Amino acid sequence: MDKSFQEKLHLFAKYALKGDEEAMRFVINILLSLGLPQTNAVAYLFVYQSIMNTYIDLKEECRKCGGVCCRFGEPVELYNFDIEDLKALSIDLSRYIFKSGDRLYLPRPCPLQNGWACGVHSAKPYACLSYPFAVEDLQKEIISSHINSKPPKPFIPHFCIAGQKVWSIIESAIREHESIYGKEPTPYDLLEHVRRKIATNT
Ligand code: SF4
Ligand code: SF4
Repeated sequence: MDKSFQEKLHLFAKYALKGDEEAMRFVINILLSLGLPQTNAVAYLFVYQSIMNTYIDLKEECRKCGGVCCRFGEPVELYNFDIEDLKALSIDLSRYIFKSGDRLYLPRPCPLQNGWACGVHSAKPYACLSYPFAVEDLQKEIISSHINSKPPKPFIPHFCIAGQKVWSIIESAIREHESIYGKEPTPYDLLEHVRRKIATNT
């Protein structure tokens, strides 16, 4: 795949993870159109992450955890669009980022963390917005072993109590959808179902 097209796809995915509905439809359509159980799993994981980022207040859980995901792990890969978003905050990025090969990274522990929270919340990089459900490395076993079109059970690190809370909400929404409609929700159905549940507080 052409590199600039790939970067554009990731940019759409970043918008989608920030709650942009059109971008979400675009990304899910591409994934589902591939017709593979693995890409179907990715579409669900993507929806889980979008629900986490957009619809559920997790400040208390992340405060309790202490921001472990920003302190440990591989460096955070930055795309060109991440750099532009960070630059818009007038941060002197040269103090924080480093280059390896042709890519730029933030180290971990992340120097932009402020206490337990992200110090650049409005310009959070794509990789950070993907944590934990849409991080390919974390979910690769789940994705590669997926053999049907059902919503996959994600891998959630034991310390990520925010991810566990989100999964318990999603899991109950899946069960509820099954009991009402007699079938598992598609990724779109799931997104709608959770959105409705949260809007009506049920
Ligand atoms: S997302 Fe998970 S690992 Fe990261 S700060 Fe929140 S609870 Fe901790
Ligand atoms: S940019 Fe923000 S969310 Fe990402 S690792 Fe740094 S502090 Fe954490």
